[in-house]
Amino acid sequence: MRQIQMVDLKSQYLKIKDEIHLLFDEILASSSFINGPHVNQFANSLSEYLKVKHVIPCGNGTDALQLALMASDLKPGNEVITTPFTFVSTVEVIALLGLKPVFVDICPDSFNIDANKIEEKISLKTKAIIPVHLFGRPAEMEAVMELAEKYELIVIEDAAQSLGADYTFSNGEQLKTGTIGHMGTTSFFPSKNLGCYGDGGAVMTNDEDLAEKVKSIANHGAERKYIYNRVGINSRLDSLQAAVLLAKLPHLDEYNQSRQRAAKIYEDLLKEVSGIKCPSTSKKGVHIFHQYTLLIENKRDAVKESLSKKGVPTAIYYPLPLHLQNAYAHYGYQKGEFPVAEAFSDKVLSLPMHTELSVEDQKYIAESLISSLQEVGEW
Ligand SMILES: *Cc1c(COP(=O)(O)O)cnc(C)c1O
Repeated sequence: MRQIQMVDLKSQYLKIKDEIHLLFDEILASSSFINGPHVNQFANSLSEYLKVKHVIPCGNGTDALQLALMASDLKPGNEVITTPFTFVSTVEVIALLGLKPVFVDICPDSFNIDANKIEEKISLKTKAIIPVHLFGRPAEMEAVMELAEKYELIVIEDAAQSLGADYTFSNGEQLKTGTIGHMGTTSFFPSKNLGCYGDGGAVMTNDEDLAEKVKSIANHGAERKYIYNRVGINSRLDSLQAAVLLAKLPHLDEYNQSRQRAAKIYEDLLKEVSGIKCPSTSKKGVHIFHQYTLLIENKRDAVKESLSKKGVPTAIYYPLPLHLQNAYAHYGYQKGEFPVAEAFSDKVLSLPMHTELSVEDQKYIAESLISSLQEVGEW
């Protein structure tokens, strides 16, 4: 029996080890751990890569969302439209700022917010939309931006899982996710497509004023040293993390291509298997497979259990949609309101996905999945 890993950060590290250690030595010798030159250097490299004017590094992806929302100058009670099928951060920051999350169900074939169902949720209190490019697949940004323009809404893209993914508009214009809305946010959590060796995040924007605001809010709301014009927070990317990201950014496209290759192999191995559904892709948004997430029609938990006994770890992103979480019960959402998100919570199963997956491992994973489906009587 093999023991497969869900993610393999170590093998990836070993390939860039020398460069990382050189940079770490440099920083340790200079002792400029906070706001050192590597932080700016990384922000500039990322803004060049993404073709976006401003990248403001910060402490993590959750802070990035909070900073973007704080820079949007919303008032308590304002409504922010988003998806109930995302990592909790997206909704947590809305709640923390006294705003109201207004959920829109997801598309059955993309796991992303259903753009056709947004307009009916827009009210006079709606001020912003946060689409999430879940699992690395770009959301329907063209439709989202059209609605935002029509109703004068701020769009903040949660690109924590999609850094590097391209989105093409119907006029042929191509942009990276996270640079399409008024602001975009991302996370450099170690297992993300571009991950550091601790916590990190960033806000992206082409808007000069928003960039200044985000920068100031991330630095306690300071206008200049010890002079504060607004309430802010303390959110920084540290120099060591910036160095890791500087070393890894030139490999991001290659990392994303490894994930896409692995996804294609999974698809070839699994597409004919009944009782499961492989993730679909679209021409408009390039899927960079932060996760490879299947739908298991029946007995998902039993399949997961059986796979684990075969040495194949899997994960459930996410087992309970956010509108049904106790923490957000006070918004009054009921079971049945977002049927696609609810049904998917019972069916999703993410297979091991990382840049170092071998074809042999993938074959073993696929064989194990098929025999697990047989064991639970679903194949
Ligand atoms: C990871 C993630 C975040 C939060 O990032 P942290 O760096 O862990 O705070 C936010 N949104 C989504 C969709 C994520 O996947």
